[in-house]
Amino acid sequence: MTNPCVMIAGGGIGGLVTALTLHQIGVECVVFESVRELKPLGVGINLQPNAVRELGDLGIGAAQLDQVGLPAKEWALVGQNGADVYAEPRGLDAGYHWPQYAVHRGQFHMLLYRIVQERLGAGAVQLGTRVTGYNKNADGSVTATLAHADGTTSQQTGAVLIGADGIHSAVRATMHPDQPPIHWGGAVMWRGTTLAKPIRSGSSFVGLGTHRQRMVIYPISHPDPATGLAMVNWIAEVTFDDPSARENTKWFGQAEIADFAHHFDGWAYDWLNVPALIRGADVAYENPMIDRDPVDSWHDGAVVLLGDAAHAMYPTGSNGASQAIIDARVLGAHMVAHGPTPEALAAYDAQLCGPVSALILRNRGAGPFGLLNMVDERCGGQFENIDDVIPPAERADFMAGYKAAAGFAIEALNTAAPTIASGAKV
Ligand SMILES: Cc1cc2nc3c(=O)[nH]c(=O)nc-3n(C[C@H](O)[C@H](O)[C@H](O)COP(=O)(O)OP(=O)(O)OC[C@H]3O[C@@H](n4cnc5c(N)ncnc54)[C@H](O)[C@@H]3O)c2cc1C
Repeated sequence: MTNPCVMIAGGGIGGLVTALTLHQIGVECVVFESVRELKPLGVGINLQPNAVRELGDLGIGAAQLDQVGLPAKEWALVGQNGADVYAEPRGLDAGYHWPQYAVHRGQFHMLLYRIVQERLGAGAVQLGTRVTGYNKNADGSVTATLAHADGTTSQQTGAVLIGADGIHSAVRATMHPDQPPIHWGGAVMWRGTTLAKPIRSGSSFVGLGTHRQRMVIYPISHPDPATGLAMVNWIAEVTFDDPSARENTKWFGQAEIADFAHHFDGWAYDWLNVPALIRGADVAYENPMIDRDPVDSWHDGAVVLLGDAAHAMYPTGSNGASQAIIDARVLGAHMVAHGPTPEALAAYDAQLCGPVSALILRNRGAGPFGLLNMVDERCGGQFENIDDVIPPAERADFMAGYKAAAGFAIEALNTAAPTIASGAKV
């Protein structure tokens, strides 16, 4: 293989959108992905309007996204008593020029993989190839060390290495060898999908419960016209007082429903039966709610971090995948200006590392679910009328602050120029 211009470690959502962006702006690249075969893993994720806009600019629009998910119409927080704490329209219904999509992570990932193969060719993603580290060269290039599935190792040199290799990033570990271990605050999430009738608007994201124990529920497929049933994603989340009791929780291990369903016994309302929803799932996965402490830079010469490798965060803001997509596009925009050079990487780092690092800490502090913490502090979760606990204007201010920090304030997004102008090339 001749030396590629840009090497991307990791073929997840961040790595594949980066490859599509580089192809769009005329930069040659190769993706090194550690697994031997990409499979449709994961359950629901949200693509916020800012990310959906970028996908549209990559030629991935409603026709494709409706095959792997559906537009979200509402975001709602509901107390354990079943009464609304806060609700607002989302996506087009909220006035954005672009929808928000709730999608199946694995199906969306496979969609991106198919499009990468169609546009960049079958060899663009090298499976079974793990990046284990890198060395910077005197001429400004970078050499990645690769471990192959057959047990051999090799080295590959390029102009730039992009670490899009997820929360356990080897590129980040090389860049920041003294970084602390993964941070876990004691919350465990069990995730699953169940065929069920969608609640409320038919495409609502609902957070139900308290700051210590809640369900997150939203559909990730259009309903079957014959049955009215959709694939409904749910996350059952419990915060444990003694995190050491569950130190063995592993990322994405399969869980027995009987091990955790009892936490939600009795959560039955006339509009939703949580125990039935959980017990109706084929399979459930256990995830500790983990993130990483922010680092002060994602950039080291010809190497840069992107997606979860740069900013693994709690999913409370539903923006991990969206931010990975934004990262890819902002990096592409700086490459249009500076070429695939350390200058482009430095400009990307200067634009995003600070604000996104602040978002990591904001999500660790519950993100938009912080309203449930306020309910707990003010009334112990017991209320008749939420307006007496948190006035409507205060609730609206709280949410507006979060959306501005996460980059999806409506007016700012609607009036912003495209991140990468149509037809722009390096
Ligand atoms: C299997 C899986 C399931 C997930 N399920 C969910 C979910 O249900 N809900 C949710 O909100 N989020 C889920 N996530 C996380 C979510 O996809 C990310 O937070 C978000 O999309 C940002 O993506 P990313 O590309 O930065 O990282 P990731 O999606 O983690 O992708 C990183 C990719 O890099 C590969 N990789 C790792 N190390 C190396 C290496 N050293 N060299 C080469 N390749 C490497 C991984 O195999 C992976 O394909 C999941 C992630 C994974 C990997």
